[in-house]
Amino acid sequence: MITKSEAAQRVLRFSGLPGFPTTEEGQDELVDAMRELAEDADHADRMVRKWWKLSSFCPTPHDLYQMAPSVRPEPTETHDADCSECEGSGWKRGTVARTIAGETITYPTVERCECGA
Ligand SMILES: [Zn+2]
Repeated sequence: MITKSEAAQRVLRFSGLPGFPTTEEGQDELVDAMRELAEDADHADRMVRKWWKLSSFCPTPHDLYQMAPSVRPEPTETHDADCSECEGSGWKRGTVARTIAGETITYPTVERCECGA
């Protein structure tokens, strides 16, 4: 999780791409998604850089949810290989529900596991 202003800075880097939301509500959705998804500012930067390589259009919140796990930072702590939550990877699966355009969608997320920390 990063701050709203850190998230807004990253989202603004999409502003030159076609499809960037023209409404404040649309921009807020992207900022909220970025804020929830980014482990830290570095993770947010990696999401932006990867998106610029992947696409010539502005991402939707859905795109950010799909992309975030692939560029997440590697955990530096050692984790318990027998941990039932993360099986030693340091990452456990969870879900987050988002309401977009009146529809609630549940997305898979990956969270840091506290074992071994
Ligand atoms: Zn664990």
